[in-house]
Amino acid sequence: MPKRKRKHQNTPASEVVGEDDVLLRATTPLQLCYYGNPVLRKKAKPVSEITETERQLAYQMLETLYNTGNGIGLAATQIGILKRLIIIDIGEDDDETYEPLVLFNPEILSVEGEVVAEEGCLSIPNVTAEVRRPEKVVVDGIDIRGEPVHIETDGLLARVLQHEIDHLNGVLFIDLISGLKRQLLKEELSWIQQAERPS
Ligand code: ZN
Repeated sequence: MPKRKRKHQNTPASEVVGEDDVLLRATTPLQLCYYGNPVLRKKAKPVSEITETERQLAYQMLETLYNTGNGIGLAATQIGILKRLIIIDIGEDDDETYEPLVLFNPEILSVEGEVVAEEGCLSIPNVTAEVRRPEKVVVDGIDIRGEPVHIETDGLLARVLQHEIDHLNGVLFIDLISGLKRQLLKEELSWIQQAERPS
């Protein structure tokens, strides 16, 4: 999911797990999959073990996210890998600074409230829409070290978590907007589909 304005510099992926981590290495950004690519509609599989391969994938996803310049969240599905892995770096929200988040097998345990806000998606460039979603979420998952993570949050982080977890289930934010609004986006969507479809 992209954000238009950023207030802070991105954290390098190598800082996510601390200086003493032996797995640190340079990574290259991966190719994003765009709207129209059938992989975006597939359901990702749970990760049974967090191996070095999985950690490396998480680093590469962070590099890919930072490489976009305005990205704040990415699901493995968006780089064509059907593993239940999301990474998020929202930076600041409501004067609070958030650490980059790597989450394997994220699961929404409960939701509360409702809020409408503008959303976009790195896989659907230049398209934004108001999306109604639960305001608060409780999410469980596994971090990059293989430790369980429990998150109770609201605001932007709650929205990005829902957006990225949707990707793992083949759901896009445009699925959540009204038929009329989606009708209005039809032309832009078909343009993306044609422009980005692999030959
Ligand atoms: Zn997205």
